[in-house]
Amino acid sequence: MKEMKEIIAHLKEKGFVYSGSSIYGGLANSWDFGPLGTMLKNNIKDLWKKFFIDEEENIYHLDSSIILNSKVWESSGHVGKFNDPMVDCKKCKERFRADHLIESIKKIKNANNLSFEEQTKFVKDIVCPSCGKQDWTDVRAFELMFKTSSSKTGGEETLYLRPETAQGVFINFKNVVDTLNVKIPFGIGQVGKAFRNEVTPGNFIFRTKEFEQLELEFFTREKESTIWFDYYIKKINDFLLSLGLTLDNFRKYEVPNDSLAHYSSRTIDFEYKFPFGWGEILGLANRGNFDLTNHTNSSNDSMEYNDQSAKEKYMPHVIETSMGVERLLFAISSEMLITETINDGEREVFKLPFNLSPYKVSVMPLTNKLEKEANSLYKELLKKDIGPINLSIGGSIGKRYRKQDSVGTMFSITFDFDSIKDNMVTIRNRDTTKQERVFIPDIKKYILKNAR
Ligand code: ATP
Repeated sequence: MKEMKEIIAHLKEKGFVYSGSSIYGGLANSWDFGPLGTMLKNNIKDLWKKFFIDEEENIYHLDSSIILNSKVWESSGHVGKFNDPMVDCKKCKERFRADHLIESIKKIKNANNLSFEEQTKFVKDIVCPSCGKQDWTDVRAFELMFKTSSSKTGGEETLYLRPETAQGVFINFKNVVDTLNVKIPFGIGQVGKAFRNEVTPGNFIFRTKEFEQLELEFFTREKESTIWFDYYIKKINDFLLSLGLTLDNFRKYEVPNDSLAHYSSRTIDFEYKFPFGWGEILGLANRGNFDLTNHTNSSNDSMEYNDQSAKEKYMPHVIETSMGVERLLFAISSEMLITETINDGEREVFKLPFNLSPYKVSVMPLTNKLEKEANSLYKELLKKDIGPINLSIGGSIGKRYRKQDSVGTMFSITFDFDSIKDNMVTIRNRDTTKQERVFIPDIKKYILKNAR
């Protein structure tokens, strides 16, 4: 695995990720995704939708709003409770997550279970990792939800940017049941932006204030919830494998009972061995009927499910899988960006599986004399439904191969002087670097057969 700074440099240089607002001096810990990063992100999201929604029985899509009625966040327990313990060094003004500081320096597990007073006592003994002094503020709560406001008759109303997509699903539970007449068990999946005013964002795209979540809420009867929890452990493993990730780089952290979030009766965090250390990529949680019960109590609109076949009404239980697109992209880059030596020297290669590669194919004229012909082949292939294709011109063919390797393009097609006569091209495979002569009409068949 490469070092952090090498991965960041590569992704920046190749148009995957840019520093946010760079022309104005940047915005700390904010990142924009360039053309290739956007394509990679979209491929991750599409694969997730296919895997968790479209190929499963009884799972539905949803696209709820980012800004919801504030009562949603009051009912869900976020207002007033969704905060992290924060402490500032009075000398250098650096800010820290108090629980993280205590865990890493005092080696105390689950420090977030300690009261703020207890955390303050522990922090007093710690030397500031930034300036080496020992002069701290008290530990206090840091509100994680971003506030905004909206004008309404008679004044301003405080609203929040959603810190998770899940609540949008819960408040639409009844809409989906009533309009689609679905039967339990069923699920609702949603992909979308979430916002958290993190105390200490950082580690590249691992922790940012704005990110995208892939969330699935699966509604079931209570007595079947453990079966579905186990089902989703397997489903998640299969998904990670389908992304081409190695399970050896993951560990499952069973969150101890006394550290569970207020809504959860069981949570497993799937952690990945990032270049900076272990970090959570996704969580699987049994949320019980916490959310639907709260929304029922606060809204006076019952979320109970009327099970006509069993002739009973009950509040469904929820199994949730929640993961971050950026953390997946970071793990994929950490594992698949490699430097290797091949016949003619060293190369940087992004060994993405075909379904994740931003460009599936690159078309190249052998020399600039063949640009016109290569261009028409490129245009013809664009319409063949192979996936995104680019045209690579200028520079030696070897250099162009290297460039495509470094962004993960799986096949390079070279149009040479013989192509005009024999209607054949040379297709080079990114991973094996093997080259084969293929008839132009057979290109799509060849690619689909050899893609992995
Ligand atoms: P952490 O402990 O790392 O703060 P969390 O337990 O608060 O994460 P969840 O609330 O379970 O995270 O959110 C589900 C997923 O959303 C996480 O597993 C992660 O992939 C993603 N996620 C959460 N916060 C961020 C963030 N600030 N930046 C990027 N991704 C995030």
